[in-house]
Amino acid sequence: RASAPLLGISNLEAWYGESHVLHGVTFDVAPGEVVTLLGRNGAGKTTTLRSIIGIMSKRTGSVTFDGVETIRMPSRAIARLGMGYVPEERGIFASLSVYENLMLPPVVKPGGLTVEQIYELFPNLRERSGSQGTKLSGGEQQMLSIGRILRTGAKLLLLDEPTEGLAPVIVQQIGRTIERLKRDGFTIVLVEQNFRFAQTVADRHYVMEQGKVVDMIPNAELDRNIEKLHRYLGV
Ligand code: ATP
Repeated sequence: RASAPLLGISNLEAWYGESHVLHGVTFDVAPGEVVTLLGRNGAGKTTTLRSIIGIMSKRTGSVTFDGVETIRMPSRAIARLGMGYVPEERGIFASLSVYENLMLPPVVKPGGLTVEQIYELFPNLRERSGSQGTKLSGGEQQMLSIGRILRTGAKLLLLDEPTEGLAPVIVQQIGRTIERLKRDGFTIVLVEQNFRFAQTVADRHYVMEQGKVVDMIPNAELDRNIEKLHRYLGV
């Protein structure tokens, strides 16, 4: 790939307390790419996203965003560079309305979507605008948690298992949204268990095992590598 990476990760290590869980993660993501992190439970995918966004307090190695080294920056400063993180648990505030949840994350960069544009992307959210977070379906919560980081102006989106637990029709809608965001120039790192879904949206797949990236599979070569992938994922 000709362009300099938007996200460059090299020899990233991270710890929960004394527990050493990332052992030298290395990969990069070009501007406008959608890449997935695949791997078994516990391989370190979530911890990798948490390290990139800076919420792992103990981490070493190198994480550059648009050429800027972030490994020693606090998470707020990293977010201000233009990264948005959607955690697996989605982080919707139950007592706030959809609209209030959308307005919550601070705008960090110009060029974010307006609330109107977010409602165009997710028409369900417009209908639910006044509803409390608790009243939303799992799919609506996922749309809200993606929608609200689009307001912030983040250009790199870190999505942790956005399809988990969702009905197939909602998974398709999330897939179309990711395709649309890619067309609009967003760069996306997606943690997925569902590699069939990953295959519909991603350019490349990184495979993690035991706190490391152990393989990279271009999307066009996924079918050819399906047995190897089954072994990695233990399915
Ligand atoms: P999953 O799909 O299960 O989330 P994952 O690939 O995202 O898997 P991580 O959640 O990053 O894996 O977990 C990597 C390792 O870190 C695992 O051994 C896990 O048990 C451990 N771990 C995760 N969260 C914590 C925590 N809060 N405290 C201590 N250890 C943790």
